[in-house]
Amino acid sequence: MVRDHLKQQPWSLKRRLRKRFDRHPKAFALGCCGVAIGLSSALWLTASNVAHTQLQRKPTLLELLNEVTTNSPNVLEEPHVKTEPSPPRADDWQSPLARQCRNLDQETEARLRNLKHRLRKEREIVAIDSSNYGKRYHRNPWKKALDPKPRLVVLHETSNSLSSAINTFKTHHADDNAQVSYHTLIGRDGRVVDAVSPLHRAFGAGYSAFLGEWAVTNPSFMGSVNNFALHLSLETPEDGYFGGRTHSGYSDAQYDSLAVVLDDWMKTFDIPAEAITTHQHVDLGGERGDPRSFDWSQLQVRLAALKRLC
Ligand SMILES: [Zn+2]
Repeated sequence: MVRDHLKQQPWSLKRRLRKRFDRHPKAFALGCCGVAIGLSSALWLTASNVAHTQLQRKPTLLELLNEVTTNSPNVLEEPHVKTEPSPPRADDWQSPLARQCRNLDQETEARLRNLKHRLRKEREIVAIDSSNYGKRYHRNPWKKALDPKPRLVVLHETSNSLSSAINTFKTHHADDNAQVSYHTLIGRDGRVVDAVSPLHRAFGAGYSAFLGEWAVTNPSFMGSVNNFALHLSLETPEDGYFGGRTHSGYSDAQYDSLAVVLDDWMKTFDIPAEAITTHQHVDLGGERGDPRSFDWSQLQVRLAALKRLC
């Protein structure tokens, strides 16, 4: 029954259409044209809507440029955690460097100016493996703006020889936890070696913050100061290679070179003396004690002579 009923419909419709055509041939022809035009219009509209949607999906040149300039050097992983971790409690930093405008050591100033001149030619640059440093980020994984300008100096020590540290930086490290670098290293003889450009992010500190500020740049890790820090490491004396809380300290040549490098960074990036700190202070894991046996009075007299403390 059902099958017969379905079959009957086209035959009935055909018969009715033929009757109408016989009675009003002109009106029927016009009607057919109208239906054809309507169908064509509908098809065209559908096609143009699809094309329009596709055009909307295609980014403009400006969008592409924005992506290149803001994201390309800073390709971030999608956050595994939905919310950004809260920054840590702000610990006070009382800089051991005091303001000093008088009683400047002119002999020290002359010596450091000479060294500065000499280092323009003698400062070395080493190429390290790209796994051990990165770009400075302009946004965190949650798209929040970050200020990548260097505005903090973190002092370290190498814990071993200068060449050993450089070899580590030259080695490819696929594991994020093993990636490490400093911007600049200073040898026992005052030799200055630049390993990472200040414009790039050296991996000098892990879980760390300064005055409650950090930057989370990898959603798999907690924040660190690396995105806005410059890391400088002093070569450890041999008696400090095997641990211990102290060692014999750093050479005069190291303090001289340190003052000259800091003078340059302070001027270039407008960094105040109060923003020179230690790895021990910024470390939030409580594991870092470097640079051990650092004598702030040696840095005081040199930075004052260079008129950086007034
Ligand atoms: Zn360190």
